[in-house]
Amino acid sequence: MKPYDHLYLSPHFDDAVLSCGGQIARHTAAGQSVLVVTITGGDPPAEAPSDTVAMLHQRWATSLAAVPGTFRSAWHFPTNPQEEEAAKPSLEGAAPGDLSVGAAIVAQRRAEDRAALALLGAEPLHLSFLDCIYRCGPDAEALYPGPADMFSPLNPADEATIAALAEAFAALPPAHQVYLPLGVGNHVDHLATRRAAERVFAAPRYYEDYPYTARPGALTEALPPETRAAWSAATVWLDEAALAAKTAAVGAYASQLSSFFANADDLAAQLRADGRRALADALADGDTAPAWAVAAERLWAAPSS
Ligand SMILES: [Zn+2]
Repeated sequence: MKPYDHLYLSPHFDDAVLSCGGQIARHTAAGQSVLVVTITGGDPPAEAPSDTVAMLHQRWATSLAAVPGTFRSAWHFPTNPQEEEAAKPSLEGAAPGDLSVGAAIVAQRRAEDRAALALLGAEPLHLSFLDCIYRCGPDAEALYPGPADMFSPLNPADEATIAALAEAFAALPPAHQVYLPLGVGNHVDHLATRRAAERVFAAPRYYEDYPYTARPGALTEALPPETRAAWSAATVWLDEAALAAKTAAVGAYASQLSSFFANADDLAAQLRADGRRALADALADGDTAPAWAVAAERLWAAPSS
C-alpha cells in the first residue's frame, strides 16, 4: 500500500478539522494525500452508563427533533448548572436514556465528517472506539460519569482503552507523517489518543487543539515553558483560500456548531481569530510570515532522542 503523505488522529469527529483544517487544505491543494482517522466513531452501548449520558441523550433527542445543529452538546465543554436548568423544559417528550438518540447522533456525525473531509479533499477513516462518556470499567461503572469528569485526569481503569488504541493505531495504513493532539484542554479522549499514539509512532507532530486554544492559559498548560523551550515548532501559514477552506469544512459539522459558535459569521470570525493567535505566537517566536499569510496553524515536535 502506498503510504499517505499525512495522517491526522482526531479523537472526535471534528477535532482534526477544527485544529488543522487549513494545513489539510494546503496539503491536498499541493496534491498530497491526507487520511483523517477519527477515534471515537463507535455506536453507543445499549444501556446508558450514567445519568449524564441519559441527560445528554434526552437533550439530543429534543434537538434532533427540532432543527439540526441548534443544541449545545457536552462533547467538548462541561455544562454548567444554569444551562442544565434552562434546558429542562425542552426535555419533555424524550424517553429517559433513549439510546437510539445516541446512535442517531453518531450516524449524523459520521456523515458530517465525510462531508467536511470531502470539502478538504481528504479521506476519512472511522474507528469504533467509544466516546469517554460511554466507557465503563470492569465493574460496568461509568469511568467518566459527570460532565466535568471528561476533563479530569485519565481514569486508571481506562488503561485497557489506551492499550487497544495503540493496537488499532499500529494497524493503520502507513503514512509519512503522523499528527496527534497536544491535549490542550485536557479532554480525556485527547489525552488517551496522545498517550496511545506516542507508543506507536516515531517522531509525530502535535497539533494545538482548537477550540481549547481559545481559553487563556490552556495552551501553556499543555505546553509549559520548560517543555516549550525544548520542543520545536513548525508554523503552517494560511492564506485566505486555506482559511476559507477550513471555515467551510468546519461548517459541515452542523450538529456541533451551536456548541462553539453563535452563527456562520461567528464561526468564520473565531477561526480567523485563532489563526491570528497562532500567527502572532509564531512571530513572537521569531518566525517571519510571508506577506500573504492571514493566519497560521502550529505544530510541535518533541526533542529528538
Ligand atoms: Zn475532541
